[in-house]
Amino acid sequence: MEQYTPMIRQYLAIKAQYEDAFLFFRLGDFYEMFFEDATKASQLLEITLTSRDGGSSERIPMCGVPYHSAAAYIEQLIELGYKVAICEQTEDPKQAKGVVKREVVQLITPGTVMEGKGLHDKENNYIAALFCENDDTYSLAFCDLSTGESRTTALTAVEEVLNELSTLRAKEVVIAPDLEEEVKKVLKERLSVTLSHQDPLPEEDGFASLIKEVSAPAMRQATNLLFHYLHRTQKRSLTHLQPVEVYEVHQFMKIDFYSKRNLELTETIRSKNKKGSLLWLLDETMTAMGGRMLKQWIDRPLINQRQINERLSMVEKLLHAFFERQEIREMLKEVYDLERLAGRVAFGNVNSRDLIQLKKSLQQIPALKDLLLRIDNDEIQALSNKMNPCEELTDLLEQAFVDNPPLSVKEGGMIRDGFHAELDEYKDASRNGKDWIANLQQQERERTGIKSLKIGYNRIFGYYIEITKANLHLLQGSRYERKQTLANCERFITPELKEKETLILQATEKIIELEYELFIEIREQVKAFIPELQELSRLVSELDVLQCFAEVSEKRQYIRPELTDSRELVIKEGRHPVVEKVMDSQEYVPNDCFMNSEREMLLVTGPNMSGKSTYMRQVALTAIMAQIGCFVPAGEARLPIFDQVFTRIGAADDLISGQSTFMVEMLEAKNAITHATNQSLILFDEIGRGTSTYDGMALAQAIIEYIHEHIQAKTLFSTHYHELTVLEESLSQLKNVHVSAVEQNGRVVFLHKIKEGAADKSYGIHVAQLAELPRELIDRANEILAELEQKEQPDLLKQEKKPSNKIAESSGQLSFFSEPVAVSAQQPDHKEKKIIEELKSYDLLEMTPLDAMNALYTLQKKLKK
Ligand code: ADP
Repeated sequence: MEQYTPMIRQYLAIKAQYEDAFLFFRLGDFYEMFFEDATKASQLLEITLTSRDGGSSERIPMCGVPYHSAAAYIEQLIELGYKVAICEQTEDPKQAKGVVKREVVQLITPGTVMEGKGLHDKENNYIAALFCENDDTYSLAFCDLSTGESRTTALTAVEEVLNELSTLRAKEVVIAPDLEEEVKKVLKERLSVTLSHQDPLPEEDGFASLIKEVSAPAMRQATNLLFHYLHRTQKRSLTHLQPVEVYEVHQFMKIDFYSKRNLELTETIRSKNKKGSLLWLLDETMTAMGGRMLKQWIDRPLINQRQINERLSMVEKLLHAFFERQEIREMLKEVYDLERLAGRVAFGNVNSRDLIQLKKSLQQIPALKDLLLRIDNDEIQALSNKMNPCEELTDLLEQAFVDNPPLSVKEGGMIRDGFHAELDEYKDASRNGKDWIANLQQQERERTGIKSLKIGYNRIFGYYIEITKANLHLLQGSRYERKQTLANCERFITPELKEKETLILQATEKIIELEYELFIEIREQVKAFIPELQELSRLVSELDVLQCFAEVSEKRQYIRPELTDSRELVIKEGRHPVVEKVMDSQEYVPNDCFMNSEREMLLVTGPNMSGKSTYMRQVALTAIMAQIGCFVPAGEARLPIFDQVFTRIGAADDLISGQSTFMVEMLEAKNAITHATNQSLILFDEIGRGTSTYDGMALAQAIIEYIHEHIQAKTLFSTHYHELTVLEESLSQLKNVHVSAVEQNGRVVFLHKIKEGAADKSYGIHVAQLAELPRELIDRANEILAELEQKEQPDLLKQEKKPSNKIAESSGQLSFFSEPVAVSAQQPDHKEKKIIEELKSYDLLEMTPLDAMNALYTLQKKLKK
């Protein structure tokens, strides 16, 4: 230490307290970084690495960013998951004896950003804290610092913790340093969040009003960790934090993370974009806060019939009130993000333009309330009555600010005349001075006869009289003092001009000072309204989401679902909302789904690409849409309320956790089987596909039987294993349905229509044909198929085999396995069986024609041996 200069010693002392952050050390107009921070930041931010003498024998690596453009660099580091400690000079360098005092004024972390790119309008930015009580019981608290919303809940397994955190998309998790290493590892690996440590400290008095609803000691520990961390890092009063709300995960429909992803509720599987998701389809919200609430509703569908019906009734009324709805939409468009604004008021980073926006937003409220009263629905009227337009605040802002104030709050020009007497005096003085100068220009022009004479101003010389060189000779007799000579003119001053200048500048200085003081005062007054603004924001968001449901439902012709307590599920003319929107809706083939206590499970068969998973997803999406209170894409819908939805759809490798497709498949299956109840909905798409045929089929059958016997959840199970359709004979609550396809001129044409009974064959080769594999290969595959069809059926289902009730769509060939086939005398030997297996395992759609040719060639060679 001793070797370094005092400033570097100061740097090192501060850095020691912020080891896990980049320390932005204010030096004049720059934030500088030193040592390792500098080397690392210069790479990450692509800025030049230099060095500086710090007193030691070696020069110290250094890099820096200008103060005025620091925000963009900070954002970049935060996006990458790092933290940035902002260290400012906390005394005037002119007054300082020795090294200027410096202090960290804020630690910006991924979970605590308040502005900039890291914060998306329609997304919350959550920071969570996790407290582990003992093995497998956890309490989670979280908060969106930008909106002040905070909640807490208790969870009973790491899996649940992961689920909640990924639903919330928490960016940062605060933990006590003694949290088990195993849990830390899982959090890091599975969620890629920033982990931050906070020592458990006693509760502070200041938290009392925030945690009054939280009684469970473990939840209090979690919230306490969170609040201590926020105060330690943000170093300011966080008056906008809302009282922590306690919730339980089973108050809502549970949809685990895998299922949310599979159903593409808020983002698509492939591109991870909102576009193409249910959220994208539904998002007709007009405000940012409504957008965030919509996402929250989709993440947590309701399970309480009364609450669902309340929402549905409001949507219904709004749907029919077409004109009112359009007016509501227009008004909402003018409503600014009140919730985040309240946060920024508390944080102290608003300017007068924000406050004008606040005023304009509030001015919408009285008319909005009146409009809502015109709609005949108790809940909507209650919503209107609860909205407080905060008139006092509107008046204050109206009186205080001019309509178009400058961006900066430190250059005056914000406050309206008549708001403050002393300020008005300074303004007068400044205006009078300026008028005097304008008059002077006129007088001097007349006196000298120089028409181009003008009085200008710059920061260095103040006011001056400017004369072009050509006119200088006309100045004889003037008492002008020469001040500056330019290429084609000269600038002069006079004692009177300077006198006025002093008056004007003093007045301006006073104006700037006083306006800033008044601004801070008004901002403090706005602070007092934060709870009202937050409540208003909640009501406006709710209205926004409901009008959004009405808007989409009308546009896309959705209908109100009926929710019942029975075991019946009836969807007539149902559609997949997103697929329908993406394709021309004229072409979408609607389908029915009918389930009840005799039809708890549907086994869906049909060719690849015929629409099996679309059908299954549409049933799940319909249920979810109904339970968030939206109308549904169907002609008629009567649904039970599902407590949970599980899916196993598609073959997305979980690359992050490094698990294979098949492992993910099995994990998802396990998840459903361990947690589903008879009130749940399970979708299994092609389970068992990731392994060899017999293996896969055996597992699929066992899973179906297990659900049928032990769970009795409503289940849709699609499979390309035709052999499974015979299960209808032995399992009383399982029914076969299939997606129909017909052959026309040897080609398969998908009708996308769901019908009763099992499909007649699997059409795999036809799909290969559609994918335009070489003709020769297709012919050969047909030949092989024909040969195989003459041969054997697998042993697996032999003992159960009864005539199936399949419905044949075409008069095409008999299917491979599902028809009782005369077993030919010549059984394939072991080698042939293996070859058949191999052929069957080929995923033709994934092969290039050349690969397929080669594979076929090898198979044939083996057969000929
Ligand atoms: P499968 O699961 O049987 O392989 P998908 O459900 O993935 O088939 O559907 C394949 C494609 O067929 C979809 O991408 C969609 O374009 C189209 N499709 C599915 N269902 C319908 C339908 N009901 N109406 C029109 N097109 C549909």
